[in-house]
Amino acid sequence: MTCKEAFQEISKYYDGELTNDEKRVLKEHLGRCGHCQIVFDTTRKTIELYCEGELFPMPEVVRSRLHQALRRKFEQKAT
Ligand SMILES: [Zn+2]
Repeated sequence: MTCKEAFQEISKYYDGELTNDEKRVLKEHLGRCGHCQIVFDTTRKTIELYCEGELFPMPEVVRSRLHQALRRKFEQKAT
């Protein structure tokens, strides 16, 4: 898995779209790749901030903004 693929998987992970197998592959990459681990942790913290620990679906607009912000962050680091 490349970092770019991992990034896409992280987005899907938090959207609840990953199968258990896909999660396992992603976790393997995170274990080897500090950068993606940071992206993963940052995403979780951002989501927690939005949701304040409540369990409710993230509004679509928040979700797409989050994806955009992450993509920018990722592309900055990758270049
Ligand atoms: Zn990576």
